[in-house]
Amino acid sequence: MPGGSLTAIGRARRGLPKQVRGLALAGDYTHMPSVNGAVASGIAAVEDLLTAKGHATT
Ligand SMILES: Cc1cc2nc3c(=O)[nH]c(=O)nc-3n(C[C@H](O)[C@H](O)[C@H](O)COP(=O)(O)OP(=O)(O)OC[C@H]3O[C@@H](n4cnc5c(N)ncnc54)[C@H](O)[C@@H]3O)c2cc1C
Repeated sequence: MPGGSLTAIGRARRGLPKQVRGLALAGDYTHMPSVNGAVASGIAAVEDLLTAKGHATT
């Protein structure tokens, strides 16, 4: 991974829409370019959708 990649990803994430009703983005590009990042992004996306629907998440 080239130097500065994580900083660039962080900057890109901050530029993503915080909330588009019924839509949550997931994928390694939204977190960290790894399997762990991909999984974490999926969990975060589901939590965002559940929170938007008024369901509590842990
Ligand atoms: C050579 C290589 C080695 C790696 N080694 C490691 C490692 O050792 N450890 C580690 O943690 N990570 C590693 N990674 C990174 C890891 O593979 C990725 O970060 C992870 O797979 C990303 O998961 P994802 O679900 O975000 O995206 P992806 O795994 O890319 O999944 C996206 C899916 O969407 C599909 N898709 C794309 N466009 C469309 C469309 N229009 N319609 C329908 N489907 C579509 C694609 O076919 C793909 O199946 C490696 C990556 C590469 C390339």
